[in-house]
Amino acid sequence: MDKGIIAIDIDGTLADNSGGFQGETVIGDPLPGAKEFLQALHDDGWEIMIHTCRAAGVAAGWLADHGLYHDSVHGSDSTPGKPVAKIYLDDRGITFTGNFAAARKKINSFATWNGDDVDGEVEQRARMRAVMRAAWPIKVRR
Ligand SMILES: [Mg+2]
Repeated sequence: MDKGIIAIDIDGTLADNSGGFQGETVIGDPLPGAKEFLQALHDDGWEIMIHTCRAAGVAAGWLADHGLYHDSVHGSDSTPGKPVAKIYLDDRGITFTGNFAAARKKINSFATWNGDDVDGEVEQRARMRAVMRAAWPIKVRR
């Protein structure tokens, strides 16, 4: 049964990110149960897209090294734009419930499940901004 595409993050979702961002090619070990989780979703009928801020090749290498099931990888160097998916699973996501005030409150008090430092990934954010600027001829706000 085809349930559609689920886009799944790596750092802090499939991979241990407790050490924070340590470089583009350094990804933590898979979190306990991550491998079984991906296989179970596949068995349930989901098409699994790995959706990451890392380069697609780096992510694909990590997935292969750990034997993690996936159908595709969408990285920071992939075709620009939000990839189509039915569900986005991410340790830094907030579900919008139709209420902007509630969303603002959640945004301003946001913390990841493992206390990962959102502001600590300066290198990664700078690289992403460069990719975005190269992809779209519009001003990206700092
Ligand atoms: Mg993450």
